Amino acid sequence: MLRLLVLAAFGYLAFRLVRSLLRRHEIPRPAQGRGVETFRDPVCGTYVTMDDAIVGRLENGEKLYFCSMECLDRYRESLGDKNT
Ligand SMILES: [Zn+2]
Repeated sequence: MLRLLVLAAFGYLAFRLVRSLLRRHEIPRPAQGRGVETFRDPVCGTYVTMDDAIVGRLENGEKLYFCSMECLDRYRESLGDKNT
């Protein structure tokens, strides 16, 4: 009887582990259809909302949205920013 309980608990833990692993590999999706506009961070691919985003402006006036200053810096580095 006790062995059965241990097996059940073990199976449950394994199930939880597999599920958390699967969830970690889910691709982040934009929150569409909820009236919230999201933007894709071109550096790491994370979707950010207007409120959370760090806005970067390009020389041609185009705007880019980043999840963090780190990503903005990395993007600027990749462009070879002349302003710094
Ligand atoms: Zn990012």
